[in-house]
Amino acid sequence: MIIKNLFKEKKPVISFEIFPPKKEAELENIDETLRTLARLHPDFISVTFGAGGSGANNKTVELAKKIKENYGIEPLVHLTCISHSKEEIKKILGQMEEAKLKNVLALRGDVNPNVPIKDDFKYASELVSFIKEQGDFHVSGACYPEVHLEAESEVSDLRNLRKKVDAGAEHLVSQLFFDNDVFYDFLTKVRIAGIDTPVEAGIMPVTNKAQIKRMVTMCGASLPDKFERIMEKYGENKEALFDAGMVYAINQIVELISYGVDGIHIFTMNNPVVAGRICDGIKNLI
Ligand code: FAD
Repeated sequence: MIIKNLFKEKKPVISFEIFPPKKEAELENIDETLRTLARLHPDFISVTFGAGGSGANNKTVELAKKIKENYGIEPLVHLTCISHSKEEIKKILGQMEEAKLKNVLALRGDVNPNVPIKDDFKYASELVSFIKEQGDFHVSGACYPEVHLEAESEVSDLRNLRKKVDAGAEHLVSQLFFDNDVFYDFLTKVRIAGIDTPVEAGIMPVTNKAQIKRMVTMCGASLPDKFERIMEKYGENKEALFDAGMVYAINQIVELISYGVDGIHIFTMNNPVVAGRICDGIKNLI
């Protein structure tokens, strides 16, 4: 199945994101999350690639293969390039071909102080072009409703996004955000920039305080007043904050679907309880 084609058939497309567990034993436990996710018949499940490609690369392809073969769900394989040579990328694409995996999310990757940068790729758009030269792959890319943290400006970030699409990215998945208005505004600018590809909205259900702090530092997501008030009220009560986080994410999704977005991409953090709560909350909406 080609992911970009899903958007011609269905609105909204619903997808989930999981990561390959670090320990072998956890790779078995991931079945609980996958069984929960499969209940909702998602359109695809994306599998992250370890930061800087730190040893998790083979597990990404392995887990994607499992999702396709054992669950009959289309995987989207994340692939980062900043710490990889062209030969290494070719090898991973070869593994994908062997496993009949055709959809890839081409990313630059974050700089990992423990993994040296290589010279072959500087930006995701270069990886997009390279993948397109290697065979019959369908390429997606990342986008940033609140501007990528390293971007010179909002305008340059949008221009760079346009380069990524011109290089062959056919579908975009957004960074997480907590304020839907920010996403709607971004979508308008994306279309003005002449980018017509489907854009999925990235939703991160909040489960605890530490996670929120990490997300804000890592990706610069702004927190709307209503979100801050929830934090103030429930921040010290673990269970209440978890409930509030699920309700907040479900409300965001309901609004986004009503607005008519192309798709919703839910970051599950491999947590079957989170996946289950979100699935139950939206099962009659999609
Ligand atoms: P790019 O598109 O290359 O952009 C990076 C920066 O460079 C931006 O500031 C951009 O404006 C600028 N830029 C781009 N092109 C040019 C140019 N030609 N000239 C000058 N400046 C330019 N990371 C992982 O390690 N593993 C994952 O699995 C993973 N999954 C992700 C999934 C999603 C949905 C998202 C949103 C992010 C994910 N990331 C992942 C994080 C991602 O790797 C980082 O955000 C990274 O810093 C940027 O990657 P990119 O592909 O968006 O880079």
